[in-house]
Amino acid sequence: MAQPDHTDFPDHTDFPDHTDFPGHTDFNAFMAGVLRRNPNQPEFVQAVREVAEDVCGFLADQPAYHHQQVLLRLTEPDRIVSFRVCWEDDVGAIHVQRGWRVQNNNAIGPYKGGLRFHPSVTESVLKFLAFEQTFKNALTGLPLGGAKGGANFDPKGKSDREVMRFCQSFMTELHRHIGADIDVPAGDIGVGAREIGYLFGQYKRITNQFTGVLTGKGLEWGGSLIRTEATGYGLVYFLCHMLATRGEDLKGKRVLISGAGNVALHAAQKAVALGAKVLTLSDSGGFIHDPDGFDQEKIDWVKDLKETRRGRIAAYCAAFPRASFHAGQRPWGVPGDIALPCATQNELTGEDARTLVANGCIAVAEGANMPTDADGVHVFKSARLLYAPGKAANAGGVAVSGLEMSQNSERRAWTEDVLQQDLQGIMATIHHACQTYGDQGGGYVDYVKGANIAGFKKVADAMLAFGVV
Ligand code: NDP
Repeated sequence: MAQPDHTDFPDHTDFPDHTDFPGHTDFNAFMAGVLRRNPNQPEFVQAVREVAEDVCGFLADQPAYHHQQVLLRLTEPDRIVSFRVCWEDDVGAIHVQRGWRVQNNNAIGPYKGGLRFHPSVTESVLKFLAFEQTFKNALTGLPLGGAKGGANFDPKGKSDREVMRFCQSFMTELHRHIGADIDVPAGDIGVGAREIGYLFGQYKRITNQFTGVLTGKGLEWGGSLIRTEATGYGLVYFLCHMLATRGEDLKGKRVLISGAGNVALHAAQKAVALGAKVLTLSDSGGFIHDPDGFDQEKIDWVKDLKETRRGRIAAYCAAFPRASFHAGQRPWGVPGDIALPCATQNELTGEDARTLVANGCIAVAEGANMPTDADGVHVFKSARLLYAPGKAANAGGVAVSGLEMSQNSERRAWTEDVLQQDLQGIMATIHHACQTYGDQGGGYVDYVKGANIAGFKKVADAMLAFGVV
């Protein structure tokens, strides 16, 4: 068989002989190519590796996917838009930031994924998030492609007017690349209700269109009930399904949560409502440990601190003196039954994972995206504890974003009951898909494998239908 012309994509030599399809199943060769094509992008390579570890095995007897180089195509984003974002601060100084939108794959629906404003944002971080989002969105069963965007802008310490000017400048460029049937961004780290409002206002001003171009909107202007709560609530619904496979529930369980943002606080709220004792929360300054547990009143206090007063989590200890603050540390050393990492990527290392296992932790469900590093993932898998990756466990947020898009399309607002039922149904369906593809026998479900294969298969089948595009 004639060899393909490699001159335009030399790394394609990872797949030199297409006649017996060795390429995709040769995990090491495949990853060597990914590494070579994406130098200095460790987060992206880490995310691809985690998926390829499972998918390469699955592909072994699936020649259709080999022929069409589906995995290789999935690791090259459809496009990456990078742009300058200039803004003026309150004293008249000019700042220049970099903005991106990574549109990874739209095989099953318009691109969809959040915007992150944080100084740690790089092209690598957004490529990993867009890649993950592609599988996560497929798992929801909704017609949503995968994307992610953001900027290396830090909203912390900025005035509302500064954040507004930044958002307006960001959207002035981004609006060319998005649309209700093209690409629908939402919030993520550093992009909450305030930022979505400024972004939507600018989109509307520039285009003179009121469309569902963003999700996470305010209820008065096209937003959906329970969108704010959906990621955290969905995470806990997923956790309950996991626990049920071992005849357990949340009542009386000690839960360690990292983060004090949207996902962390709503996960805490739902876990407490279902009888758990939440012991920790954190921010980038450190973690707080409240041995009495957080009740709804304390969670509301933290919400007000973070969302209205925009304060630091350390302030909690002045208001609740029995709690302690641990500067610069993460909560994984506190003895607990369940860990819910809900802050950011790689916040739970192999060492943390070993500590959790040694302390008798029975379940870990990721509210954040890729919060467990590669070593940590292998520790959890070897210990055969209940461990769910973000792409499955935190999909509730994008699921309700998908439902927000449906409501915008029909210009109707659905009731909370309907949305709650849909969210619970979607989380149950994702759990079932993970069981279907991740069942290892003996009562052990490899949720990472299950999520990777179920998500891959859906996107891959759509890609096969479209031919080579
Ligand atoms: P928020 O901005 O609301 O909160 C983020 C929280 O994480 C804050 O407490 C923040 O602390 C902390 N944090 C951020 N970066 C770091 C860091 N480098 N080290 C330690 N702590 C950090 O974001 P969300 O709650 O929306 O997002 C949290 C995670 O959940 C992210 O991984 C996101 O991708 C994921 N996710 C979010 C969804 C959503 O619907 N919002 C949906 C699915 C996943 P500080 O204030 O000090 O920065």
